[in-house]
Amino acid sequence: MSPRFFALGLTLLLLFLEAGCEAPYSGPPANLVVTNADVVTIDRDRPRAEAVAVLGEEIVAVGSNEAMEAYIGTDTEVIDAGGRLMIPGFNDAHAHYGPLDPDYIELRYTTDPSVITERVREAVSRARPGELIQGGHWEHEMFVGRQWPTKELLDEVAPDNPVALSRADGHSTLVNSYVLRASGITNETPDPPGGEIQRDPVTGEATGIFKESARRLLDYGAVPVERTAEEEAARRALGWDQMLEYTRSLGVTSIQHPGGGNAETYQRMMDEGKLTVRVDVAGNLTADPQELARWDELRKRYPAEGNWIRFGYLKGFMDGTLGSGTAMFFEPYEDEPETRGLPQMSYEELEEQVLACDAMGFQIGIHAIGTEANNWILNAYEHAREVNGARDSRHRSEHAQVLTDADIPRFAQLGVIASMQPTHCITDKRFAEKRIGLERSRGAYAWRRLLDAGAHIAFGTDYSVEPLAPLEGIYAAVTRKDRLGEEGDGWFPDQKLTAEEAIELYTLGSAYAQFMEDRKGMIKEGYLGDMVIYDRDFMTGPEDEIMQALVDFTIVGGKVVYRR
Ligand SMILES: [Zn+2]
Repeated sequence: MSPRFFALGLTLLLLFLEAGCEAPYSGPPANLVVTNADVVTIDRDRPRAEAVAVLGEEIVAVGSNEAMEAYIGTDTEVIDAGGRLMIPGFNDAHAHYGPLDPDYIELRYTTDPSVITERVREAVSRARPGELIQGGHWEHEMFVGRQWPTKELLDEVAPDNPVALSRADGHSTLVNSYVLRASGITNETPDPPGGEIQRDPVTGEATGIFKESARRLLDYGAVPVERTAEEEAARRALGWDQMLEYTRSLGVTSIQHPGGGNAETYQRMMDEGKLTVRVDVAGNLTADPQELARWDELRKRYPAEGNWIRFGYLKGFMDGTLGSGTAMFFEPYEDEPETRGLPQMSYEELEEQVLACDAMGFQIGIHAIGTEANNWILNAYEHAREVNGARDSRHRSEHAQVLTDADIPRFAQLGVIASMQPTHCITDKRFAEKRIGLERSRGAYAWRRLLDAGAHIAFGTDYSVEPLAPLEGIYAAVTRKDRLGEEGDGWFPDQKLTAEEAIELYTLGSAYAQFMEDRKGMIKEGYLGDMVIYDRDFMTGPEDEIMQALVDFTIVGGKVVYRR
């Protein structure tokens, strides 16, 4: 071949490759092909597509309907999406995941405290004397008078049973007089460090509300429910089945435990072929070498290279919550000037634990809501970087709810992930300004400011504080309005996100927070085939219809695990 022809041939070949006219696919047929979809890929190189093919667990092709033909064999399942919206599976970066409890008294969205009395009365009628009555998710800021509930709501209907009902945020618990007696709580019992026994301002008597570490004083004195080991196991298995089904129906394909999560339980479900959600379990932030060795052992058994059950990060607590008035601020609360929150450890302890965990190469995630709590953990992460050396550590602020102007840029500078839950914004906005005032609220749930400053954000729900439903989070991020809708432009509307941005934080952003952005969070070749098809395009429709969209298909690793 003459050099001229060789050059011409090479040019043609390059043109051929550039035009994407590769040789037709000749590998094994895909197990799943979705055609005629409005695919929102979250892949910036190709934001939209029509069709996707999955082979094994992995996406092998994204493109046009025609391009998928080569992937369809006799055993390939083909879904014609009929133009419906398909996005990557949701990855909840902060979910306190577990089996549902059939006897739990669900009080979410209760506006009338007398409902609590009624629900407890019903539960008591089914229980034997002494059995523990449990429930929660009440939110006094939703009550008509916004007053904290007290033991009087429970005492008359539950004189002979312990009752424990936790607040929506899980940081305060309402108990009845039965529990106060069983726990030996009197007017003289002092508040423990980091906790508060709420008291009647006149009589000094405990109201029944126990905040933060004060809950450890509680001894329910419950008569154990008698169930055989088999009954107990069956009940738990049923609760898990219900939870997994609920998860599938919501299009949630990955979960990250913020502390806890039993890897062996998940392994068992995996072995039984029941596990339909990818799970990161977690350990606890500690400076104790023995405990760290235990987490290290678990990390080796469930390594980060895995795709199903993995060891995530070590979780700590810096403060409480805004709703309970225990989140830790530089300045006092506006409505409770005597307090600026309750640190759950000293700065010295925090630093010691962060140093020890970071030195062993663990990722760390610390619950931090208030401005000072976030400042402390950023300082501790910065200190660890100076002492142990900089690495791609991706330490996290779990919640990162209220930040000072000075701390917002530090997330990007230190590579710290803001692990945030958009529904907290629309739940807390009802009382945020009352608690912390207008000025501090500018740094609250400040997604846009964090993104503009170059920070990585991961989205989640904080289930079961908030429902596991991702579209409530998308709605919250897009509107910053109450769930029932409201006039106007939303709360601090300059912090609103587009639906596509919110989905990205909830998929790719969450995958980045768990070091999986190379294989999860986008609909892209080489990525895990985790995808959701909706019955309507909630991204471009009216914003008050976002939460009404229903999942038609949930696909995990190329398998259809839910079909409406
Ligand atoms: Zn949480």
